[in-house]
Amino acid sequence: IYTMTATYYRKGQSSEHVVLPAADMDFASQVETALDNNQFYMVYQPQIDFETGKLKGVEALVRWRHPTKGIISPDKFIRVAELTGLIVPLGNWVMRTACAEAAKWNNDPVLGNIELAVNVSAHQLKSGTLVDDILQILEETGLAPQRLVVELTESAFVQDDGQNASMMHQLKDAGIKLAIDDFGTGYSCLSYLRDIPGDYLKIDRSFVMELPGHDKAEAVIQAIVSLGKSLGYRIIAEGVETEAQSTFVKAIGVDIVQGFLYSRPLEAEALQDWAAENLPATIPH
Ligand code: C2E
Ligand code: MG
Ligand code: MG
Ligand code: MG
Repeated sequence: IYTMTATYYRKGQSSEHVVLPAADMDFASQVETALDNNQFYMVYQPQIDFETGKLKGVEALVRWRHPTKGIISPDKFIRVAELTGLIVPLGNWVMRTACAEAAKWNNDPVLGNIELAVNVSAHQLKSGTLVDDILQILEETGLAPQRLVVELTESAFVQDDGQNASMMHQLKDAGIKLAIDDFGTGYSCLSYLRDIPGDYLKIDRSFVMELPGHDKAEAVIQAIVSLGKSLGYRIIAEGVETEAQSTFVKAIGVDIVQGFLYSRPLEAEALQDWAAENLPATIPH
């Protein structure tokens, strides 16, 4: 309930006016402090390619190490960051940190040529500088654009006057890949699928959770896979937790899997240990 209204201004840089309840206001200023005080850190969740049995890439996920509340998940703070515009500096921090960490793996036998998927909020597209910001970060960190995947949810494609699509083409032209995240949960206006230059379609965890044995969930997921594949996308299933789910999604043609069955999201160092233990070295080419 909005008991109190106030306007939140990002210190010294924003003219953004948003009305937030008092509790969110307090939270927003904590997010800003957290950014200034280095309380955020990244974890990386492996994605396995069924075809090769190898690591295809990792998804970078942000965490907040709060001084008194412990570790806070992004579901709790991304929304407020979006409402206040703090998502722009936070998103830049995420992109820079993840690219810098991934570039450090350049000479690692297993992690050396994997892809790094980074979540980008539709609000970051509105800032207008997203493409330039990303290109500059790649240049500064030394990560090849071919190794970066930008994950966007359906809202970025559906509520678009053409500007988002144009940015996606710019990313594509630079060699960066594009994934549609949480597919099936949003507006599912399907026409954008054929117009945007997407590489990956990620089936949302809520569908995978009901597998196997739930006829309707199976039918939906099968339809998504065949639609996506016929449009040239590679299909990723997220939230795979059991062998039965893995077997099922493999059988219907999913290309790549991500989920607790393989690994939880790990800090960079733990990811290197995990890869060394669980995966054969990638054949150099
Ligand atoms: P997402 O992009 O769909 O990320 C997948 C989420 O599913 C992650 O939650 C991951 O930890 C979780 N997950 C993966 N496998 C399993 C599984 O087998 N079982 C279960 N129960 N969960 C699994 P997380 O890290 O809490 O992130 C939640 C959402 O917050 C993300 O959903 C994404 O939308 C957003 N997010 C996370 N990091 C960032 C970021 O750096 N920037 C932005 N803009 N959004 C982010
Ligand atoms: Mg994602
Ligand atoms: Mg997702
Ligand atoms: Mg999700």
